[in-house]
Amino acid sequence: MNRLEIRRPDDFHAHVRQGPLLAQAVPMSNDFGRVLVMPNTVPHVLTAADAKAYREAIVDAGASFEPLMTISIAPSTTPEIVREASVHGVVAGKLYPDGVTTNSEGGVRDLADLEPVFRAMEECGLVLCLHGETPGVFVLDREAAFVETTLPWLVTSFPGLRIVLEHVTTAQAVDAVRAGPAHVGATITVHHLAITLDDVIGDRLEPHNFCKPVAKRPDDRAALVDAATSGDPAFFLGTDSAPHLQEAKECSGGAAGVFTAPLALAVLAEIFEARGALDRLEGFTSVHGADFYGLSPSEETVELVRHAWDVPASIDGLVPFRAGRTLGWQIVRDS
Ligand SMILES: [Zn+2]
Repeated sequence: MNRLEIRRPDDFHAHVRQGPLLAQAVPMSNDFGRVLVMPNTVPHVLTAADAKAYREAIVDAGASFEPLMTISIAPSTTPEIVREASVHGVVAGKLYPDGVTTNSEGGVRDLADLEPVFRAMEECGLVLCLHGETPGVFVLDREAAFVETTLPWLVTSFPGLRIVLEHVTTAQAVDAVRAGPAHVGATITVHHLAITLDDVIGDRLEPHNFCKPVAKRPDDRAALVDAATSGDPAFFLGTDSAPHLQEAKECSGGAAGVFTAPLALAVLAEIFEARGALDRLEGFTSVHGADFYGLSPSEETVELVRHAWDVPASIDGLVPFRAGRTLGWQIVRDS
């Protein structure tokens, strides 16, 4: 097979930034039909009004995708804020436990305090997106701790709440989602399907592969590839593409985040082909997530061709995932 046509994919987790970086980041996601935009700007997107303003800025920055807006579920969030957001088209609330990733300081400490907020989300049909790591736990064990303790509480306490465990990185998380009810799904990133912790710190430090949650063990990566290529509709693409300026990555105290958006489909095609699962790529990128969110899969299509190309060292000043490497598939763009 030398060409592949699939429904236009959706990205159910991306960071398109703010300020000067917004204009660079937004067009990078234009291969996607819809992009679920994360709210952890400074300050966070907290209300319907914030989401509206952010959506307008994204459209003005040249988005050809439909931005699906989120609000941050913070200690200050109230049921009224949730209802107002839902009325104004916000589709999800993102919960960051305190201090686990970029701009999550001041995040949620005690989830029980937010019970009325979760009830309101359940009633309105707002999806709860979870950064599933428990603060204060050893870094490689944070996701497993969250999956063992917090996730079961949420799943059983709010049976009508659609929950997405974002950017899963461990076999434990995959198992929990597989075993869970239909109202629980998970996004998987491109980079977590491709790398392990060895690619971050196994040899020389590779800051462009550093992200939260950090990539884990080979067994974990294998479990993620199994899940993504299995056809299980609980698993779908959320790239967590997170561009940072080069100097913010290549320094002491470097920022977490891997920039994958413009090459996501090409890398995924390689991963799915290696598993003999190219026929399941469309489900993962373009159908399962839409179904979970209650949206129609795109009627548009994109085309990938088998064509060796070198990922540039920099795209508009941003260092992409797999920079300098040769990929075997390429997305066909009009321009
Ligand atoms: Zn993210």
